[in-house]
Order: sequence, then C-alpha cells, then structure tokens
Amino acid sequence: MISPAVLLNVKEASRQFGGIRALTDVSIQLRTGELIGLIGPNGAGKTTLFNLLTGVYEPSRGEITLNGQSIGGKKPYQICHKGAARTFQNIRLFGEMTVAENIKIAYTQHAKYSIWSSFFRLPGYLRGEKEIEEKTDELLAIFRLSEHKDEKAKNLSYGAQRRLEIARALAARPKLLLLDEPAAGMNPNETRELMNLIRWIREEFDLTILLIEHDMSLVMGVCDRIYVLDQGKLIAEGTPDRIRNNRAVIEAYLGQEA
Ligand code: ATP
Repeated sequence: MISPAVLLNVKEASRQFGGIRALTDVSIQLRTGELIGLIGPNGAGKTTLFNLLTGVYEPSRGEITLNGQSIGGKKPYQICHKGAARTFQNIRLFGEMTVAENIKIAYTQHAKYSIWSSFFRLPGYLRGEKEIEEKTDELLAIFRLSEHKDEKAKNLSYGAQRRLEIARALAARPKLLLLDEPAAGMNPNETRELMNLIRWIREEFDLTILLIEHDMSLVMGVCDRIYVLDQGKLIAEGTPDRIRNNRAVIEAYLGQEA
C-alpha cells in the first residue's frame, strides 16, 4: 500500500523569546488524514508550535511546509488560504454577534465574489450569499447549534462556544485543522461527545488534525499517534499505547506534579 503524502512537515523548528527557548529543533510530520496529538506539561511549547504553524510567530530557525509549500514566516491569512485553520485555547468568538454570523463571517472571507458585486448585490453575490446561508445551516446542524442560531455567541454555554469555534474554523475549508485544547472546561459527557465529533469531522471533511489537549482520555481515545514536548523539545512520538508507557513522558509529567 502506498502511504499517504505528508501534508505538514516541520523540520527542526526553533523559536526563542529573548532568552527563553520556547522550542528547540522540533521536527514533526503529519500525513494526510492523520489525527495527531500534541501533548506535554505546562510551558512545554505546544501553543508556540501552533503559533509557528499559523503565522502568529516566525520560526527563529527551521522549515515548515504545508502541502509541499513553505509556510514558515508567512502571514496568518496567507497560511489560512493555503489550508490551515485553528481554534484557540482562550475561545475567540465575536461575542456580540449571533452564532450564525460568527460562521458566515468566516465563509465571507473565503467567498469568491468581488466587492463590487457585493455592493451592487449582483447575481454572483446573491448566489454566493445563498450558498453561505445553506452551508452555515449545515455546519450549525452538525455541531448541534441550530437552535441557538440567532443567539449572541457570548450567551452560549462553554461547551457550545467551543463547538462553534470548531465550526467556524471549518468554514475556512481547511485541509489541516489545529485544535488547541478543544475540551478545556467541558464536562466528561461533553468531552465524550467532542471525541466522536472530532472523529466524524475528520472523515466528513477530509481533514488532517493536530490536537493539543490536556484531557488524556480524549487524546488517547482519538489519536493515531502522539508527539510529546517537554521544555521546548520533542521527547517522544508514537501510538497512544507506546506514549502511555514511555518513561521519559511519565517523568516529564511527574516533574510537573512535583
Ligand atoms: P500550556 O499547556 O500551559 O498552554 P504550552 O505547552 O502551550 O503551555 P507555550 O505557551 O508554547 O507552552 O510556552 C512555551 C514557553 O514559551 C513558556 O516558557 C512561555 O512562557 C514562553 N512563551 C510563549 N510565548 C511567549 C511570548 N510571546 N513571549 C515570551 N515568552 C513566551
């Protein structure tokens, strides 16, 4: 069997902030369709890696390619257009906008009609608007948000806000979805539901997913492979079973508890 192509290739990426080495020579590879976990104790460098992958920061050293194209140091909107979308550890919705508007705005950013056709409400624009309306409704249904469609995003429960963030990320039609602690603040039932949802959207939207998560039952339950960071360095990589029994990983987490 031919193994799927590498979608994301991070080669010896490093990032420093003044004297702090947030990441040192980190290399990871995601093949198309994989669902990969990124774990590690607090301050390990997980979010910094996401920030390099999405153009929030430039790598100090190293190479990052998405679908064979270099993205290291590109602007966030350029990387988004190349097919990477993310959610944030601290939810970043437009709280005063409705649930539906939060998704529509993401679709609009990727719509193909020109500003003139939107200004004069030309046919191309109206067709686009109708499609956006339909796709928004589809996403709302998938994420069990239809009944909250017209509510302000800030009034949703925490779990629903997290689902809305993922729905909005999908509106950008990504190939690579980066989820930063999607289960944070969720109760065990919501976490279980989220686990099934992540599996399902991977199939349905042909996604490759990189998942930062502190909830080990979620990570171990859904991921094909897991990368482990500690103090900015990659200390292990492997299947959930191997990671669970990896000495260096256990010690890194015990160190955190001490
Ligand atoms: P957590 O699980 O707590 O979210 P993390 O694994 O995501 O942690 P990062 O947030 O990537 O870790 O932080 C890695 C290191 O880099 C930490 O020492 C952090 O203080 C530092 N760091 C991250 N961003 C910056 C920044 N903008 N300026 C200075 N230091 C930073």
